[in-house]
Amino acid sequence: MRRIDDYRDMTAVDAVREAIEAAKANESFHAILSLTEERALARAADVDAGTVSGRLAGVPFIAKDNFLTFGSATTAASRMLENFEAPLQATAIERLEAEGAICIGKANLDAFAHGGSTENSAFGPTKNAVDTSKVAGGSSGGSAVAVALGIVPFALGTDTGGSIRQPASFNGVVGVKPTYGTVSRFGVVAMASSTDTIGVLAVSAKDAEVVMDIMSGQDDRDMTTLPDFFAPQGIERPLKIGVIGEAMTDDVATVVRDKVVASLERMKGAGHSVDQVSLPILKYALAIYYIVVPAEISSNLARYDGIRYGLRAANDTLSHLYGASRDAGFMPENKRRILIGSYVLSSGYFDAYYLKAQKARTLLIEEFNRLFDDYDILVAPVAPTPAFALGENADDPVKMYLADIMTVPASLAGLPAVSVPAKTEPGELPVGVQLIGRRQSDALLLALARQLEEEEA
Ligand code: GLN
Repeated sequence: MRRIDDYRDMTAVDAVREAIEAAKANESFHAILSLTEERALARAADVDAGTVSGRLAGVPFIAKDNFLTFGSATTAASRMLENFEAPLQATAIERLEAEGAICIGKANLDAFAHGGSTENSAFGPTKNAVDTSKVAGGSSGGSAVAVALGIVPFALGTDTGGSIRQPASFNGVVGVKPTYGTVSRFGVVAMASSTDTIGVLAVSAKDAEVVMDIMSGQDDRDMTTLPDFFAPQGIERPLKIGVIGEAMTDDVATVVRDKVVASLERMKGAGHSVDQVSLPILKYALAIYYIVVPAEISSNLARYDGIRYGLRAANDTLSHLYGASRDAGFMPENKRRILIGSYVLSSGYFDAYYLKAQKARTLLIEEFNRLFDDYDILVAPVAPTPAFALGENADDPVKMYLADIMTVPASLAGLPAVSVPAKTEPGELPVGVQLIGRRQSDALLLALARQLEEEEA
């Protein structure tokens, strides 16, 4: 499995050819929706000719198919955008390309990033990289599997409520969900604007750090971006680490708890202190998330009306055109969220649901703030179980939502969180350990992830 540094001794054309061959050889996983072969090879030739250079010169990567990119359609894994050719590229893509990185293709996802298994893709599910009877996780399932299979050293994802961390955990790669506002969302298909973040899945924490360093920083096309604060760092002092008690109960699979405990032992071994801490509001986090996020989804997805762009399924009366296009273009999970969102925002229910959820969200932020008065980093599992079976939760949306319990709190609070693969024995499914930090402590989380990684090596 190549890391970023391993590309130094290769020509860019060889690197791109190798990645594209690996993508084709692994088609059965259905991690990738389209390859941007022609454009990638042309860019590789520019790198080899010396007209393009930079920190990632000639390094191939894959972007989740909700990033606007040139070279193939940007579908968000939906019929709605099946034939959508992007008129511009996402800021994150532009920044990576400016450093010489080469996008070789687009990864599968749950349509519009709604889901946690990649089974909601309009083009069929992605299979787990380690056990093909299991889900890839989601919604950045294709990105996680492409990295875990060694097709590319890193892939881009989006994380609104866990979509980078959870598939990273299910496939044994590193997943970084940054502080809200770290990386520009410009040119990325919107899901829920107050929790959407852009991040990376990578073979190693060190590589993830390089990619975050390049992507982060203010962008005048996304007014929520923060001035660049991300600076790779080391660990200069012992850290105070708190493990969230409510996330380590009997409801969490024993194997997951055991891995988290083993990883905490290693943190202690490295000189850090570990205490159990309490986040009582955790039990309400899903209820808050599944009100706030559908509300924002119902608003963001209103733009897909069959008029301006995207699928048009009828050409008669205006209302039938809207209805038929949205019916044919959205997956059942997209429609469910639009309905829930419209309901909680409707005049009769706004106070009872949406406003109440926003107040509870504030309480959650305050609970986190209190813990961060005393602790540098909080630890929890990424998900209550390792990857579940394909089809296991597909017919029961509430069961599917329950799998998000550990990841949504950091999203609602805008906090950075990293999924680090725990040590596994041969034959075991991957399990991720989640590190959650204060706002803008992203580099510290990655420094700890690197420390754990180095110990393992
Ligand atoms: N699984 C969560 C959901 O379905 C997270 C999705 C995401 O982060 N894009 O909402």
